Parts: sequence; structure tokens; C-alpha cells
Amino acid sequence: MSGAGPRMSTLKIKKQADGFVLDYGHVRLALDTGIKGETTLLTHGHTDHLRGVEKAHRVVATKATIDTLRARGHGVPGNLELLEYNQRVGQLGVVVTGLNAGHVLGSTMYLMEFDEGLSVLYTGDFNVIDSMVHQAAVPVSADVLITEATYGAPEWVFPSRKNIYENILRATTEVIENGRLPVFQAYSLGKAQEAIALLQWGGFNVVSGNHRIDEVCHVYNQHGSDLRHKPLKHSEAKDLLSGACAIVSSSFHHTRRNIRATMGSRAAKRIINNMEHYSLSGWTLGDSSKTGFPLSAHSDFNGLKTFAKKVNPRVVYCFTGNASQFSGHLVDDGLNAVPLE
Ligand SMILES: [Zn+2]
Repeated sequence: MSGAGPRMSTLKIKKQADGFVLDYGHVRLALDTGIKGETTLLTHGHTDHLRGVEKAHRVVATKATIDTLRARGHGVPGNLELLEYNQRVGQLGVVVTGLNAGHVLGSTMYLMEFDEGLSVLYTGDFNVIDSMVHQAAVPVSADVLITEATYGAPEWVFPSRKNIYENILRATTEVIENGRLPVFQAYSLGKAQEAIALLQWGGFNVVSGNHRIDEVCHVYNQHGSDLRHKPLKHSEAKDLLSGACAIVSSSFHHTRRNIRATMGSRAAKRIINNMEHYSLSGWTLGDSSKTGFPLSAHSDFNGLKTFAKKVNPRVVYCFTGNASQFSGHLVDDGLNAVPLE
């Protein structure tokens, strides 16, 4: 990719698996992927950021990210360097600072400051909005920004978190008042914990429909959350499912199977027939075929744009989702931006 100025080395960013390999001078780093003999900066524990990481010589990540990997049954790299937010770790030619990304527990943006003077910010997945369980990502200035662009098109502007939360709680109340069971589908890492925290705050009993959610909730609680849902196997879960509660599920299919396995077929049939399904995802926005709420762990279009402007970089590389459309919008706003696909 393009140079970073006169008399300096050239920054090269190459896509590999679902991440990137970055070369600058004598420094080579892998971002959310792995290369033999080199260091990987791992942003978070979602599966699409882990491909190839096992090849890494050394992996830099937060302890929370590593704990979520374990909870979700992923292998954990042997040579780990754990870092806290705002902590700096060095290797020859570069100093790396980990910054909160606001996406899921442990999620990290990386600011790389090279000895030659160039600074590069890699966001991974990030969210600029505070949630019940995550703090918003805050921009820092950098010469080069490598940003995700999942929702990088103008149609993806989400309602306020407060508004989405109110709508979820209102629907939960209505469904339960009608004698039915609301089931919310959410990723087992991040969104499920936000949904549980919200429903719990709203005064509802919550049952989780999947073992992975329970494992990840355990990690959230170890890192300071107070999630008090009941796993399906809990002695109270059967009564709750026959009475009034909300279910949080990472897979409707597996939740139904788990209910059959725990409750017996007759009780399970009654419970399953009584369910009202909702999806918690940014993609539900404006899609009438999907019943749900646009609760996203990513920044929306305005959030991505404001973030990029505040970083105030000389060049922006956009990846994933709407990368080319988003870079076009940044160019319209006077930034030098290109897609990295
Ligand atoms: Zn993610």
C-alpha cells in the first residue's frame, strides 16, 4: 500500500486469512492472524479474528480476551503476552499500546508507534457507544488508521441505545403479559451478556438457552459484571420457563434441543410452542423479514465517520463489510481513504 512520507520506510498492509500482515521497516506484525516467527496483535475472541493465530510466535492480547477464548472452547496460544488497556508493550522498532475497543469483553484496538516516528491505529471491531456491559471506544490521533467498516454505509444509522433498550424491555413485558416466552437471539460473546444485563436490570428473570453463554457469562462476572441469569440446567429454570421469564439464546435450534434434553419432551413441547423469537442484531434495522432489535456491538455509520475524523490520520484503510463505500464517504469528507480488500 502507499508510502507514509519522504525519507521514511514504506508501510505495507496485506490481507491474510481474516486479518492483516503489516510491514514497516524491519518490523513485521500480524493483526488478528498469525505468521511463523512473528508477533500477533489479537483484538478479541470472535472466531472470524482467530484464523491462523496458532502460527504466531507470540500473541499479545488482554487477559479478558484469552479468558473468553477458553470459555468458547478455542485453543489458547502458548507464548502469550498479556496486556492491560493503556499499557505499552515493546519489541524491536515499535511500541504497542492496547486501547479499549468497546466491542466485547477484552476487545482491544492497537496503537503502534514505530521508532521512525509513524503511528498506526488498528481498530479491529469496535463500538463508540456505551452499553450495559461495555465502555465506548475513544479515538486517539494517529498518522494511519486501519478501521473496520461493517456498517460503513449511510443506511446503517442505529437508534440510540436507550431507545433500543426501551423497545426490548417493552416487548418483553408485552409478551410475558400475554402468557408467552420472549426468546432473544444474540452472539454468545458480547451481545448475550448485554441482553442478560438489560433484562435483569428491567426486573425480568432470565434463562440462558446455551451452555456457551453460561461459560462466557462466568468470564464476564470474573471481570466485574454481575450477571445473574439461570442456566437451563439450574433447578429453578424449569419453573421459570413454565412461568414468566425471558430466554437469551445464541442459537434457537440448539436452545430448543437443549430444552428437550433438560425438560423432557412433553414439557419441552409446551415451552417451545409458547416462544416468541427476536433477533438482536444491527442487521435487523429496516429488514421487515427479521423480527428483532438493531442492537449492535459495532459502531454505526455516523460512529465510524466521527471516529475516523477524530483520529485525524493522513490515510485511512477500511476493511470488512462496506469498506469501499465507507472509504468513498471519507474521501467526500476530505480524508485520504482506501478500501483494504
Ligand atoms: Zn467481533
